[in-house]
Amino acid sequence: MSADLIHHLNAFADTDLKMPVLFVGHGSPMNAIEDNEFSEAWMEVSRALPIPQAIICISAHWQTVDTQVTAMEWPKTIHDFQGFPRELFEKEYPAKGSPDLADLTRATVKKTQIGLNQNWGLDHGTWSVLCRMFPNADIPVVQISLDHTKGPAYHYELSKELYSLRKKGVLIIGSGNIVHNLRTVVWQDKAYDWAVDFDETIKQFILTGDHNAIINYPKLGQTAQLAVPTNEHFLPLLYVLALQDPKDEISFFGDKVTMGSMSMRSVKIG
Ligand code: ZN
Repeated sequence: MSADLIHHLNAFADTDLKMPVLFVGHGSPMNAIEDNEFSEAWMEVSRALPIPQAIICISAHWQTVDTQVTAMEWPKTIHDFQGFPRELFEKEYPAKGSPDLADLTRATVKKTQIGLNQNWGLDHGTWSVLCRMFPNADIPVVQISLDHTKGPAYHYELSKELYSLRKKGVLIIGSGNIVHNLRTVVWQDKAYDWAVDFDETIKQFILTGDHNAIINYPKLGQTAQLAVPTNEHFLPLLYVLALQDPKDEISFFGDKVTMGSMSMRSVKIG
């Protein structure tokens, strides 16, 4: 190990504190600029958190054919959506990156070779949430990508290796949605029965610690097909659950199905 890398690793020293882990149902990008029950819930949760040294976000909106971590000094704000008001396209989240944390992440995860990425930045899965939770953008942020060639169990196992970072002041956030079906979405505050059923089933598995049932969600049949037609919004939940310690408390926030088929259920672990 080079002297340089050792120096970097020391920048994230062990602490007595174990940082909570969050799954945030991000939903519409409008939550970044609209004051509503979800953006308010995010703000409230963030106020009770210890101040993180840095943040790692696993967002539904960055999929790759391997696993990468953003390693640039200044990640750009990515406006990866269409048909929203200009105000949303003008929104910037000027947090620093953390090449140190990118190196540390790479060194911490042994079973998978993690690539250092210089091109991505912060997509809206990350910044639409963080601009509410940490509006001053004064905490460094890196993203880890989702390898879309891999199945749910792979993502869960990879994330387990990140556990030690919780004790180094790193806040790990998974950003997605437990139920996310854009084909059936309506711009109204309503909920389909199957969406509520699936959300409730996953909630119970979270509470009973049955992570295997969540990893094997396709076995839930028809409701799973409707709720998770593609799994990029579901997988960030697995990253968060994998970091759970048996002693951790679990709580929910923003837990509501809206827009017909969008579960905003968010989870705080620890
Ligand atoms: Zn999304």
